[in-house]
Amino acid sequence: MFQLAYCAGHYLNTPGKRTLKSLDKNQTKEWVLNDRIARYLEKAAEAYEVKLLRTDDETGKSFIDIPDRTKKANRWGADVYLDIHHNAGIGGKSGGGVEAFCYPGSAKGKQYRDTIYAEVIAAGGLKGNRSQPLKEKAFDSLALTDMPAVLVEYGFMDSQTDTPVILSQDYAKKVAYATMKAIAKVAGIPKKVKTDESLSDFVRQVQKAIGAAVDGIAGPETLGKTVTLSAQRNDTHPAVKVVQKRLYALGYQQVGEADGIAGPKFTAAVKAYQRDNGCWVDGEITAGNKTWKKLLSL
Ligand SMILES: [Zn+2]
Repeated sequence: MFQLAYCAGHYLNTPGKRTLKSLDKNQTKEWVLNDRIARYLEKAAEAYEVKLLRTDDETGKSFIDIPDRTKKANRWGADVYLDIHHNAGIGGKSGGGVEAFCYPGSAKGKQYRDTIYAEVIAAGGLKGNRSQPLKEKAFDSLALTDMPAVLVEYGFMDSQTDTPVILSQDYAKKVAYATMKAIAKVAGIPKKVKTDESLSDFVRQVQKAIGAAVDGIAGPETLGKTVTLSAQRNDTHPAVKVVQKRLYALGYQQVGEADGIAGPKFTAAVKAYQRDNGCWVDGEITAGNKTWKKLLSL
């Protein structure tokens, strides 16, 4: 699985790293802003097949220096490294925007940098006025990492135009999700396959009704224990009620109330289901006519 290492730059009490008082009376610390993006990045990563390693102290209380952070990422075998920062140097004037860095000459680093920048600008809108927001620089976090690494400055803490934006939770969330999306795009990280809760519930109930092992995942054992359900055979089997509910939930409302008795309504709904799913249309649920297989998603 793809491995992403990242850190919120600095730590809570790094001297000087904070917003300008005239723009933010709370003088929010840079680490707090970096940390917020790191946490949203973790949320964003939940949708992907990716493993995460955070290399700074996530409580912000202690400072882990950069060589220790990069050593952790190297030892772990990270595939990419992201160093999260916010910028300064505007002195209370307007302008600024996002800047992104990679290690000089790193082709893969450049690809990550450019893609992250593009997605972050598209999502957060902080394009700013820097003539060259895409840079190469041998920052320690980029130089000491064995894998492609990107340092992103997500906006200026002393810019009239940037500061209100970077203080907003909404911005942090948007740019974090955009960063994850960009990394996934470059690396080709697949999205997690969502499990169908209602299907696994249905399978569990069927398994219980037919006396198969109950694990919510149908296999040959489950299929082997199924019984034929129809108005003619096993019309009051406990599995009838389970199937009635499932057919109703799938949109076959003609099945009517789940009363546990397979009658004409049951037959009509089963036939409609069979027609829609390429089964032999006979109004019976059997293992042989593929209807059980379809229902159990085998
Ligand atoms: Zn910084």
